[in-house]
Amino acid sequence: MSGDVASPPFRILPRITDLNRPFWTGGEHGELRFLRCRDCGTRLHPPVPVCHVDHSRNVHPEAVSGRATVATFTINHQMWMPGPELPYVVAIVEIEEDPTIRLTTNIVGCEPGDVYIGMPVEVVFERQPDGDGAVWLPLFRPRREAEVG
Ligand SMILES: [Zn+2]
Repeated sequence: MSGDVASPPFRILPRITDLNRPFWTGGEHGELRFLRCRDCGTRLHPPVPVCHVDHSRNVHPEAVSGRATVATFTINHQMWMPGPELPYVVAIVEIEEDPTIRLTTNIVGCEPGDVYIGMPVEVVFERQPDGDGAVWLPLFRPRREAEVG
């Protein structure tokens, strides 16, 4: 079923909480951040205050490389909500440091027809005004060869 892939809450801005703020505002510093348990090293996403492995509360935001791999994707040709120009790619990517962490996102910076499963990508942030502040949506673009390694 691709239904869960085609209906992400993207471009609908997230409600910022103390827990998810590092994730949604890390882009201000060019960082993709996840909460990580400092006792066992598990990354926690969606963010939770207590590690689900060892129940530790020693949980803090930590930046990852921003590199990821396309796990699955769909090309959207329908204007079903205000969003980017059509067509665009809605993808699920697995982050390099922990492939069990999957983000629903958009692939930008290439033709939709050039996207493939297993494609190496890297994060790029799209700033969106949000009330008095802003959030930085993590989108992904094809990884540049020169930046690999
Ligand atoms: Zn833990």
